[in-house]
Amino acid sequence: MPITEVTITRRCAHCRYELGELTVKKDNMRLMVTETAWCESCGSDVPELREVAGRVSSVQAEQASYPGNPPVPDVSAAEYRRRRLEGRHL
Ligand SMILES: [Zn+2]
Repeated sequence: MPITEVTITRRCAHCRYELGELTVKKDNMRLMVTETAWCESCGSDVPELREVAGRVSSVQAEQASYPGNPPVPDVSAAEYRRRRLEGRHL
């Protein structure tokens, strides 16, 4: 089941004070907003920055959910042979 919702962190564009979070459907995600928000830290209405929170973890979760993941190749053994061969040339 792919994750279709993302968590957006809203921040003050001036001081990056966290204004809150909201969860939106990926399809409706808007990172560019024109409306302003109240920043307690600045004490004024400020432009709002939006960042995707937890983007990495959602990607990992999607990959982990793929059925029939191919087995991870034994990189360490191949790497060991490669280094041993290189060592003979030195
Ligand atoms: Zn601020």
